[in-house]
Amino acid sequence: MANRLQPVFPEQDTEHFWEGAKQGELRYQQCNACDTVVFTPRAHCTACGSDDLAWKVSAGAGEVYTYSVVRQNRSPAFADLGAYAVAYIDLDEGFRMMSGIVGVGDPTQEVRIGMRVQVEFEPQESGEYPIPVFRPV
Ligand SMILES: [Zn+2]
Repeated sequence: MANRLQPVFPEQDTEHFWEGAKQGELRYQQCNACDTVVFTPRAHCTACGSDDLAWKVSAGAGEVYTYSVVRQNRSPAFADLGAYAVAYIDLDEGFRMMSGIVGVGDPTQEVRIGMRVQVEFEPQESGEYPIPVFRPV
């Protein structure tokens, strides 16, 4: 089981996102005033400044916008991974998030820009909040 850092609460902008992760939901926001999709979670719309944001649940499907391979990470939370891919994922609902790509043997060979991926939630021995990661489909 993974051992990533856990979010610390209270934190008004992201707590609803992390509560969603506990329920297997990838949550994002959309502005009720101008329909802009907003991510990462925050108090105001990035386009018009409105504080009238609705929470939505993503289907968790998207594609790799770009990625990098980390060959060695000495942080105790990542040292056991070996080489791993960190990617920007473009979700089908119109937001982009950074996350890890799981389920590939050699990330230098098996991750591609444009590759379709699906979110999953990786349980953590470090705490109750699973981390959203993406697996090729
Ligand atoms: Zn707006």
